Amino acid sequence: MRIKVLGTQSPYVTENHNCPGFLIESGQHRIMLDCGSGTHRMLDFPNDLNNLHVFLTHLHRDHYNDIFNIQYASYVFHNQKRLENPVEIYLPMSPQRIYGDIISESNSYTKYHKIKSNTKVHIGELEITFLLVEHAVETYAVKVTDGRNTIVYTSDVSFISREQLVDFAKYANVLISESSLLKEHGFPKINSHLTAHQAATIAKEAEVGKLVLTHFWPEEDVNKYLSEAKEIFEDVEVAIEGMILM
Ligand SMILES: [Zn+2]
Repeated sequence: MRIKVLGTQSPYVTENHNCPGFLIESGQHRIMLDCGSGTHRMLDFPNDLNNLHVFLTHLHRDHYNDIFNIQYASYVFHNQKRLENPVEIYLPMSPQRIYGDIISESNSYTKYHKIKSNTKVHIGELEITFLLVEHAVETYAVKVTDGRNTIVYTSDVSFISREQLVDFAKYANVLISESSLLKEHGFPKINSHLTAHQAATIAKEAEVGKLVLTHFWPEEDVNKYLSEAKEIFEDVEVAIEGMILM
């Protein structure tokens, strides 16, 4: 299992930074976790469209915007007979207007699957499971395991989901956690997003091998997130576009 960082920033892109996305490769299969603005430029077309499974953790713009580019590229490459199998897209069913917008796109060579709490997906030797977490819309944390290594991606989440996330991520090799906020931003402790401190708290309680922080505010210095997390949990790094996490 190989994990590449495609995007680390929200809510908008800047020169070398995209909105959230990660690409996991295992054998001939590709798993894309989120599809934020700019992430599709990190893919190698049309090769990476083959055996591609895209999981949208929730239907906020910064996590799904590039799905439309992937849909249209799949349509064109299929027409050119350069893409044999449809791109498989997994997504929650709400907000219904956005769900409907994505699945009704006709210029697309894709198949759709609904994500629910009890959804379990097997792709090659990978098993993928989901945890419904607290956020502004229906949102799922994702766990991917090949039986040897396990990675957990929090998606966007409130600290309200702390206990459930700790259970879900227990002993994972890599925890990819959003850390949109810093303590110094002065938001209330319970917000729709985590601080770096809260992400590190979850990593420590879940006893994960490594914490990777992501979902940074574009105007902020990423080293601040790193320092704040290190107060709690030593084995932490910040995600950077193009970085290989495993
Ligand atoms: Zn987000």
